[in-house]
Amino acid sequence: MNFYSLNNQAPNVSFKDAVITGIAPDRGLYFPESIEPLPSSFFERIEELSNHEIAFNSIHQFVSDDIPNEKLKEILANVLDFDFPVVEIEENVATLELFHGPTMAFKDVGARFMANCMGYFSEGENSEVTVLVATSGDTGGAVANGFLGVKGVNVVILYPSGKVSDIQERQLTTLGQNITALEVDGTFDDCQKMVKTAFLDEALLKKMKLTSANSINIARWLPQLFYFLFAYKQAKSKNKEIVFSVPSGNFGNVCAGMVAQKLGMPVKHFIASTNLNDTVPEFMKTGEYVPKPSSATISNAMDVGDPSNFVRIRHLYGDNFEELSKNLSSYMFTDSETREAMLHIYTNSGYITDPHGAVGYLGLKKYQELHPDNYGIFLETAHPVKFLDVVEETIGISVEIPSQIQKVMGKDKKSIHITKYDELKNFLLEGC
Ligand SMILES: *Cc1c(COP(=O)(O)O)cnc(C)c1O
Repeated sequence: MNFYSLNNQAPNVSFKDAVITGIAPDRGLYFPESIEPLPSSFFERIEELSNHEIAFNSIHQFVSDDIPNEKLKEILANVLDFDFPVVEIEENVATLELFHGPTMAFKDVGARFMANCMGYFSEGENSEVTVLVATSGDTGGAVANGFLGVKGVNVVILYPSGKVSDIQERQLTTLGQNITALEVDGTFDDCQKMVKTAFLDEALLKKMKLTSANSINIARWLPQLFYFLFAYKQAKSKNKEIVFSVPSGNFGNVCAGMVAQKLGMPVKHFIASTNLNDTVPEFMKTGEYVPKPSSATISNAMDVGDPSNFVRIRHLYGDNFEELSKNLSSYMFTDSETREAMLHIYTNSGYITDPHGAVGYLGLKKYQELHPDNYGIFLETAHPVKFLDVVEETIGISVEIPSQIQKVMGKDKKSIHITKYDELKNFLLEGC
């Protein structure tokens, strides 16, 4: 299958080329030429399928021109070697735990899938590719872990100094090998701006192959549709209509859920839950898209003022606001509401959520107040230990540190401080 640019000013490309370039030459995001629904028998007997079979059947049409079936199966087995349990915490309210991977945030699946694809594409090639990525916290760790030791690929991660959690920082600064962390004196927006500038820098692009590992890259974005299918498989026996509440920042995850819906998965409604960064909730109220600078919150992986994947969502519904409104609601919650929810959930059910999951819970409850008769699943996108300070201080308990995290605790941080774009450019030209 080919992919086209949403800006319509660039040629269509294969899966492989879309992954290697990240974004189209006209700066548009790539989008699949078609989304063929899976046969209804797939959903009728989904509970008989393994996660590997579900993943293979659902992503096959998008990648099969460039990755042979046997290789694709091997990649999926590497990527999906942990569980995705749906845990019920109240009547008709469950959470889909996406934090059982190596860096304990949901981005592990997308990052590992992309890394495995890039590793496969670079076999037998002489030229190296540099993956450049800005992170507000979790992407960096997942990308570093996924790409560690992948031949032919160098990874450069930009993160805002002092604005990621201690554990997040260790996950992206302690690995070494083909991974370099650049610590930027500034905000996440500054990091993202530098990355965008690099992708537009002709002089730089003449010298090196650059790609992005943010969710604009289809190999990071598309495999996230697996989560929704894995959840459907587990919740189907409830015999109720299913709604998903997705804590959203760049809106890649919820958009992948909508692709699963286009593949034929029965979903009644999506809820995109956000923190104070409410560009999309405002859009869903007014129909006007007005991006704004991001504000810092306790759910920092969602501190995004101009979500990059929202154009894909609008496109999926034919840029028709009414159609979109039928399928999507979006609500914003403050930090104090989020903390209250974390405490409420813990007191009521003994379940510990991280701040992102708590925002998802709040969105689900708000929707269910108006539409009570459904089975609601909110995505728990990170393990609470990744936001240890907030969780411990809000709930008043201490969280046990899992082995994945203990591994990075004793390691030394290595990063290079930069303040402006020229330093990034010099590093890329000389350093890697
Ligand atoms: C990245 C991230 C999100 C936001 O996901 P998007 O696909 O960007 O909307 C939410 N929660 C956590 C923990 C994350 O790391």
